[in-house]
Amino acid sequence: MRGLIALAATLLLAGAAVAQPSYSGPIFDAHLHYNDEAYSGPHPLADVLGRMQRSGVRAIVANSRPNDGTKSLANAREQTQAAGVTVVPFVRLYRNRADYGGWFADPTIVEMVQRELAAGTAAGPYRGLGEFHLYDSANANGPVARQLMQLAQERELAVLAHVDDTAIDLLMAHAPNTRLIWAHTGIGGPPVARVRALLVKYPKLMGELSYRPGLTGAGGGLSAEWKALLTEFSDRFLVGSDTWVNGRWSSYESLMTEARRWLADLPPAAAQRIAWENGARLFGLPAPRR
Ligand SMILES: [Zn+2]
Repeated sequence: MRGLIALAATLLLAGAAVAQPSYSGPIFDAHLHYNDEAYSGPHPLADVLGRMQRSGVRAIVANSRPNDGTKSLANAREQTQAAGVTVVPFVRLYRNRADYGGWFADPTIVEMVQRELAAGTAAGPYRGLGEFHLYDSANANGPVARQLMQLAQERELAVLAHVDDTAIDLLMAHAPNTRLIWAHTGIGGPPVARVRALLVKYPKLMGELSYRPGLTGAGGGLSAEWKALLTEFSDRFLVGSDTWVNGRWSSYESLMTEARRWLADLPPAAAQRIAWENGARLFGLPAPRR
């Protein structure tokens, strides 16, 4: 019955005139930013928690520019509990927009990360680093990227990296046991065969699926090649919203409705893993309360 209610709610949110298949279980949003222009602008805490709750999102990887956004989520223990949302905090490398393009050459970023890790959050210790961007994969070989990958490996922190497939090889060479979460599974859309080869080569590599070119086709269902890959590697993928600008917050519920649509094209156990269980397993979360 709960499943039917959730399905009906999802369809209402989508404004769908015709019934479309929809995954109705919990979602772990593995790529969420709560940046300053969101929390000091149109999306205060009650707004974003309401959006998560209405979307059936029961846990989030929070990483924000600056880290204050993540701390405000972590500090709001009563509100997040009331919304049924578990906060998994990551240290963002960016204090401001300038850091996007220069972090890999800036040793003060490593110092900032160390300070944040030592301080932790009200929701517990940080569990990962990132998201970070490498627009030129050669910078994956710089000292800051190497230090952070090795730090993550030592402390068993996950790393959320927005990089190309070449940089995956370079980053993993620094610290082969690091749990690397590939943001967008390659926003430039490397071929499925290349993604598959990297998953085989690096057993601790995970793929996050927001913005992934080629994932879905007309009608919002999975493309044939992605359906095959996600079914074969259903323990290696995660759903994300990537709320990098406020427009992603204002469309948060429809982003999650879109994810529920393509998840429904998978065998139910595979959909459940990608939507919830993989993230819950990585960070040791219990089953969500009903
Ligand atoms: Zn992002």
